Amino acid sequence: MTLALYNTLTRTTAAFTPITQGKVGIYLCGATVQAEPHIGHIRSGVNFDILRRWLMASGFDVTFVRNVTDIDDKILHKAVHEKIPWWAVAMKYERAFTDAYRSLNVLPPSYEPRATGHITQMIELMERLIDRGFAYAPGNGDVYLEVRKLARYLTLSNQRLDDLMPADDADLTMKRDPRDFALWKAAKPGDPSWPTPWGPGRPGWHIECSAMAQTYLGEEFDIHGGGMDLIFPHHENEIAQSEAAGYGFARIWMHNAWVTQSGEKMSKSLGNSLLVREILKQVRGIELRWYLSGAHYRSMLEFSYEALEESATNFRRIESFLYKVNEKFERQGKIEGVIDPEFRTVMDDDLAVPQALALISTWLRAGNTALTSGDLTGARREAERIRGALSILGADPFDGAFATSNNNSEGVTKALDGLIQLLLKEREDARSRKDFAAADRIRDSFQDLGITIEDGPEGPRWSIQ
Ligand SMILES: [Zn+2]
Repeated sequence: MTLALYNTLTRTTAAFTPITQGKVGIYLCGATVQAEPHIGHIRSGVNFDILRRWLMASGFDVTFVRNVTDIDDKILHKAVHEKIPWWAVAMKYERAFTDAYRSLNVLPPSYEPRATGHITQMIELMERLIDRGFAYAPGNGDVYLEVRKLARYLTLSNQRLDDLMPADDADLTMKRDPRDFALWKAAKPGDPSWPTPWGPGRPGWHIECSAMAQTYLGEEFDIHGGGMDLIFPHHENEIAQSEAAGYGFARIWMHNAWVTQSGEKMSKSLGNSLLVREILKQVRGIELRWYLSGAHYRSMLEFSYEALEESATNFRRIESFLYKVNEKFERQGKIEGVIDPEFRTVMDDDLAVPQALALISTWLRAGNTALTSGDLTGARREAERIRGALSILGADPFDGAFATSNNNSEGVTKALDGLIQLLLKEREDARSRKDFAAADRIRDSFQDLGITIEDGPEGPRWSIQ
């Protein structure tokens, strides 16, 4: 069996064939960086990271692009609210997203373009759309796409143009059809703007992704992903722009479902308790990753603390088994991960992670039984299968990413402080017994490590240079 993926565009699951043999190009709509990420935001990153890891494990050379939307109405509103420049808002929350992705062991994208760095490409694309007769600039500084001219418009979201409400993104009086959407918006006083042939303004959200996808992946590429809330209007309009430009654009459209609370899409209004940063005070990054990976990417994940805790407990059982087996074989080196054929089958079936978890449970039971009965070879075999599966799910406890990332910098500082105090005590003892050579060695070691010691009235204090 080969990898089969569900395509929102065709509403079917079909065998995946890349455009270029051995290579895959993926574009994932990234964050609009206007607030700290909650777990609903980050689920998309985790789901598509599993897709990427699976494609890599299947032998593909993957180019993974995830953009940053760093200019948007919401960012401008936040700037007013926080009394800082709009670009400071964007950078602040981009960093918060980067930290959250890193905490959950989401691989860094091959390219992570910011929208504001691609204005030139957006202008070129709009010029092309105007030349080809699909877009128009009515003279007020806006540029619109004329949706009636597109035969396949609304195929992705399966809607009829006649049923469509007006796009409320700009001045209706300037549009040829109220359903036309803005590619570019004329500058408003006080807002950031960039010069164009049609006057100063800023991009609409949709043109950003079309321009960036084309820049990094070419006119046609394999997979476009995002949350299912992006199907309309965002992805529909990305398709409209790119097809009107004469580009093939994405062949497969993949959409992850939401994290829900009481069946509703999680949103900012539900409070800050579900920020990634807050949840990482309760569980480790690897446990949150495990929890968010557990549901099939196209199924809603209903959040509850009970379910999170239960999932973390289950994960700790797996981890404990792996550590136990690893101890037994430590001299021969760490147990390696192996991709089991059964795991391959379920992952090839549109990334059926819940079935993969069922396999892991079976292997864990068999592995623990083997350990109890002293069957080390059997225990090792199960551990290797489990580790192979966890590496694809991004939750391998031996992965160095989790040892250094996130969530415990306070603990690290505390441990470091304890060690330094211990050495300072050694230095004091050496001085008091007049062993100055030993005292100097400790001082030199601190210097080599870049640790500065200052003697103050309340005893020595340390800092890192
Ligand atoms: Zn996008």
